[in-house]
Formats: sequence, structure tokens, C-alpha cells
Amino acid sequence: MNDMKNLARMADRIREGLMGLKHARYLELSRHLTSLTGQLQQLTAESRKMGASVARGWLSAAQTCCKNVDRLLSEVDYCLPRIRPLAEKPQKEIPTLPVLVDELDALQEEFGDIEFDASTNTISVVTEPITLEDIYLGPFKIQLELNKLDQLYYRSAYHVIALEPNPAATDDSVTHPHVSSEKLCEGDGSAAIRAALEEGRICDFFTIARSILNTYSPDSPYVSLDDWDGRACYDCGRRVSSEDSYYCNHCEHDYCSDCSTYCRRCEETVCLGCSGQCSYCQEMLCRNCVSKCEECGELFCESCLKDDLCPNCTEEQENEDEREETTVNESENRSQPQAEATDVKLAS
Ligand SMILES: [Zn+2]
Ligand SMILES: [Zn+2]
Ligand SMILES: [Zn+2]
Ligand SMILES: [Zn+2]
Ligand SMILES: [Zn+2]
Repeated sequence: MNDMKNLARMADRIREGLMGLKHARYLELSRHLTSLTGQLQQLTAESRKMGASVARGWLSAAQTCCKNVDRLLSEVDYCLPRIRPLAEKPQKEIPTLPVLVDELDALQEEFGDIEFDASTNTISVVTEPITLEDIYLGPFKIQLELNKLDQLYYRSAYHVIALEPNPAATDDSVTHPHVSSEKLCEGDGSAAIRAALEEGRICDFFTIARSILNTYSPDSPYVSLDDWDGRACYDCGRRVSSEDSYYCNHCEHDYCSDCSTYCRRCEETVCLGCSGQCSYCQEMLCRNCVSKCEECGELFCESCLKDDLCPNCTEEQENEDEREETTVNESENRSQPQAEATDVKLAS
């Protein structure tokens, strides 16, 4: 537990951070205003061009204007919702030191303890162990970086660190359905978190973050809890998400993408063990679509077989037939009278 002196030190650091944040907010508004006024100037220019084009009946010039106006309007559309919240609410006064000390006192009461690291300028609390839908995710440390408060409009100013990590089987960096690489996906809570930090309601900030961690939103997880443990590939054992898992109907097991393929003929998913390759055209096929050559017994696709014979065996057979024919011809020739053979020679 921190004593009053320690809390006062933290409160002082928080005030510094909040002053940086206040400045950053004006800076951010100014940056957005600059780009908005640029867009409005371009709109004014397009508006003049549009008027002139219409007056002269230049329809294709008017069409080009339309395209530019449309692009500029969508840029304005993007800009406005970012400017409004920065401009509409007046910035609150930064809380005084005693107010912040009270805030920290309440925070300490709420979480049992506050960890303050003066060298990195971070304030952290630890949640109770969290279990969502029977999956134990362990306790999490929520660490606010006071040095990063002034970057609040670009990036998150805090980390969520799993203390007894039980990450998703398919992604080590996902330690909670809503935490990836120590960043919390705030979802609907993002405005509340930002407002709490802007107003120096430190205790609120941590409790909102904790309540997001204690809630599972199945619509927007990094990895859904249904898929937390993934599915093990029956062949190589790699755990993959249900989306990346392939079921082989022949042996009735799940496989990863590396250990499965699909039959080029019936398009059924099949594991490598149950698939066969045509020895001639190298197409991958399932067991049902592969056929044996009657002569050599190797596997082929249907289109490479002719009368149940593979191309090699067909060729061999044809050669044999030819040879037989030649032998027959030769023996016929030999039985021909000598004179006829001479005639042939003379004729050529
Ligand atoms: Zn595999
Ligand atoms: Zn199989
Ligand atoms: Zn097939
Ligand atoms: Zn083939
Ligand atoms: Zn053959």
C-alpha cells in the first residue's frame, strides 16, 4: 500500500501528464482544422470551376468537377467527426493535487494496491483473475504510461499485460479475446476511456478498462472464445482456428492447410494421407476419384487413363502391337518369292 507521500508523488506526475495531454488536445484540433480549411479552399476552387463549366456548357469539365467534389466531401466527412469532439466540449480544468490524491486513494481502495514506477513513469493496478465462459485467462496488469498521455489521440497510453498468460492457441499475442500485443480493443468504451483520462478521472479509467476485460463481446474478438484452444491438426499437431481447419471426409479428422488439399475432380477437401496423385499429370485427387492402371497398378486420374491403361502402358502396348505387326510382315515378306523383292528394289 502506498502512503500519502507516495500518492502525492504520483498525483504530481499525473498532473504533469495531464498538462501534456491538454496541450496535445489543442494541437490535435489545430492539425485537423488546418486540413479541413485546406479541403474547404479546394472546394471553393471546384465550385468556381463548376459554375464556369456549366455556364459554357462544358459537360465533361463539369463531370470532372463532380468527381473532385465527391472526393473532397468524403475527406471532409472523415475530418468532421474527429474535430467535433475536440471542439465541442470545453476542456476541463486539470484536477488539483488534493483531488488527484483522493482519486488515487479511491483507486487503491478499489484494486487493493497501486504500483508506481518513477523511472518509467507508469501507474499500474492488477485485476482479479479473469475467467470468461469457463476459460481461465488469469489476472491482468493495467499499466498507464504517464509519458504517453500526450499521444492519446494517436495511440493507446496504457498496456494490458497478462500475468498468468493463457493465450489463444492460434496466436500467442492474444492473451484475452479483446487484448492483442498488450493493447485493449476498447470497442464502445473508447470514448469513456478517453474522457476519463482527459479529465484526470484516473480511478474511472482503470475501472472502465477492467470492466471491458471482464466482458466478452462475441461480435468483435481478436480470437473468439469458441476457438480459444483451436483445433489440433491430426497429422502435424499444429493448432489452428476453426476457419483454418479442414475436415477430411475419408478418415474423419481435422487437418491444417499444410496437411490437406482438395480433389481437383470432385473438389472435396481431403487430407494428404487420403489423397492420391495422378502419376502422369500430377493432379491431386481423393481416393474416390483416383483409378489404378490395369497393367502397372499405379494411380492415375480418369482423364489420363484410356481403356483402364495409363499413357505409358498404352504406348508400350502400341509398340508391342507394332512390333508384332512388323514381325508378321517380315515373316510374310520372307515367304514372298525372290523375284518380287527384286522388283521392289528396281522400282525404288
Ligand atoms: Zn498439419
Ligand atoms: Zn483423410
Ligand atoms: Zn474426388
Ligand atoms: Zn492425370
Ligand atoms: Zn500403367
